[in-house]
Amino acid sequence: MALDFEKEKLIEELKKANPKKVLVQLAEGIKQNANEIKGWFDELGIEVVFSGETCWGGCDIAIDEARNIDADLIVHFGHAEFIKTDFPVIYIEVKDILDLNPLLQKSLDVIKSYNTIGLSYSIQHCHDIENIKKFYEEKGKEVILSKKRGTNAYEGHITGCDYQGAKEIQEQVDCFVIIGNKFHSIGATLALKKPVILIDVYNNDVKIMGDLKDKILKQRAIAIEKLKEAKNVGIIVGMKCGQKFGSPEKIIEKLKERGKNVIIITMADLTPDKIMNFYNIDAFIELACPRIALDDFANYPKPILTMREALVALGEISWDEILEQGIL
Ligand code: SF4
Repeated sequence: MALDFEKEKLIEELKKANPKKVLVQLAEGIKQNANEIKGWFDELGIEVVFSGETCWGGCDIAIDEARNIDADLIVHFGHAEFIKTDFPVIYIEVKDILDLNPLLQKSLDVIKSYNTIGLSYSIQHCHDIENIKKFYEEKGKEVILSKKRGTNAYEGHITGCDYQGAKEIQEQVDCFVIIGNKFHSIGATLALKKPVILIDVYNNDVKIMGDLKDKILKQRAIAIEKLKEAKNVGIIVGMKCGQKFGSPEKIIEKLKERGKNVIIITMADLTPDKIMNFYNIDAFIELACPRIALDDFANYPKPILTMREALVALGEISWDEILEQGIL
């Protein structure tokens, strides 16, 4: 697979912004391209520093790092704009250059019983979407792109935590086709009620998602029960600037009313090791990326819940309500 780093756009934007020193953030899968990218900054005589911290989404804009090294601009590669910041940022979305036709052809058998398709994609496939839509329409399908809502940058675009635009079309479609990877399609299957089909461009496959949904829902129900029983509860406040999924104040009083000891903990990246160090905490509620609680259950030594799940444990909303709305 070839990648298009939109070098021309980058150079044009850099000339306009005229920075002296730039902090570059690369999504995890493209950190290996740092050398090549450095050369483009060298050509323009711009000092460049690469962030070695994790960068899983557009939610993660390294403003503090940039300020610490006196950079006057961030260039963020691999995600679309997710939030507005008070620091200048250039987003380079990075395109996957692929021939999708064989996979689209293969998908026809899987979607043969569906007439109307909801279509969504991760950002690397934005440039292909009109051709994909046309492909299915020529095969007699009606295609509706998910709406541009919340943190989605374009019509049809989804991020791993925001499926509102897809939810808004789900009554009109028979199934969803997601162009991208397992991460985005698992999110879609947790958020949506209609069948989700993944065009898995990274494993050259077409998959019907669903089995995992049942497994994850069972795990979530267990985590909710564990929070009910917990004596000591940690609330993790995410330190990445776009990962603000609720405020601790909303839940502290309710936890205390139920006799629980509550501590608030800040974390930029959640890892099992960091969680393990708080060994006397029985359960955690995280207000950072909701996918950590939902996807990584098996990796963590203690239950971690999202805010909404915590509200279920506290009897503030019902599990059925969550299932009806989608757990994401
Ligand atoms: S919060 Fe999580 S799912 Fe949402 S964009 Fe960030 S890393 Fe992705």
